[in-house]
Amino acid sequence: MNEASCHCGGVHVRVPAAPDTVTDCNCSICRRLGALWAYYPTADVVIEPADGTETYVWGDRSLAFHRCKTCGCTTHWQGLGAHADRVGVNARLFEPEVWSGLPTRRFDGAAAPIGG
Ligand SMILES: [Zn+2]
Repeated sequence: MNEASCHCGGVHVRVPAAPDTVTDCNCSICRRLGALWAYYPTADVVIEPADGTETYVWGDRSLAFHRCKTCGCTTHWQGLGAHADRVGVNARLFEPEVWSGLPTRRFDGAAAPIGG
């Protein structure tokens, strides 16, 4: 329940506890990715293997979006700079029963571009 994986199984994301809410953000990238974000402190998240992803960074360079090098699934974002203590795990990579019934926060990232 505390582990998510991409489609090909090449990248696993382990967290200390399943999320209790997820966030649906409408910013320019999140609406395209279709991800639901579960936020964690960076220290609590293990990505294996660490080199299994490639990243996309743009704009004010506050976040790096990671995707599996093999299957392309968006696995998580890692905060950069002042936001380095935060990770957003793509909750859709957990089994559906983990996230499908959770309260979904609608975040207006189009107006305020950092996930909150
Ligand atoms: Zn993959």
